Amino acid sequence: CGIVGIVGKNQAERVILNGLHRLEYRGYDSAGLFVADESHHHLVKSPGRIKNLEDKVTAEVTGNIGIGHTRWATHGEPTEENAHPHTSQSGQLVLVHNGVIENFEEIQQNYLSEHTFLGQTDTEIAVHLVEELKVKENLSTKEAFRKALSIIKGSYAFGLIDLTDLQTIYVAKNKSPLLIGLGDGFNVICSDALAVLDQTDTFVEIEDGEMVTVTADSVVIEKQDGQVVTRDSFKTQVDL
Ligand code: GLU
Repeated sequence: CGIVGIVGKNQAERVILNGLHRLEYRGYDSAGLFVADESHHHLVKSPGRIKNLEDKVTAEVTGNIGIGHTRWATHGEPTEENAHPHTSQSGQLVLVHNGVIENFEEIQQNYLSEHTFLGQTDTEIAVHLVEELKVKENLSTKEAFRKALSIIKGSYAFGLIDLTDLQTIYVAKNKSPLLIGLGDGFNVICSDALAVLDQTDTFVEIEDGEMVTVTADSVVIEKQDGQVVTRDSFKTQVDL
């Protein structure tokens, strides 16, 4: 299971598909991607091989922001509906997740009794929760995400995109791997540096409990309480 995302580069779909191929070694049963630009957005998912997904990524599936995912099912069968990315009730928020949300049933009962779900994953609960908090408490996407993270228990690497702000990927991790890769005019997110070594060799680590706002030219890391963290990047030394 793995995550790759990019903001600020054309042909995001190519970077994501290449990255998902490089994450194949982590094991998976299905895969999917979301890409967008100002005029259109595309969500493509498939059970089975990355090749199956790739075959569904037609020429019009392009974008300059996107997130992709390989899934290792923990809750819900490895079907197309259960493949990530998952969308919120209105469709405005799109999310990928690695890990397990331990209290997803509790969250569903306490916050989401009026919501309809398309699949059976724990992950779908998380993206619905962010939207619920955003609408009910009139929060920005970032603040709703922060609040959702304080409610969610379990392991996660999350990548979140809001369709009304196609400049930003929101990221968070707890006990699942996730790194930020720094590019010139773009930035990437990935479970393993290996996924994006053709794009960059410079990375920033994220610690458990941190939330990161990634745009094409900025990476802002915050603690749960909103305190901004400064952290040096490092260069990978890998012989390709
Ligand atoms: N628990 C989530 C699911 O079953 C994510 C699994 C993963 O890490 O790929 O969809």
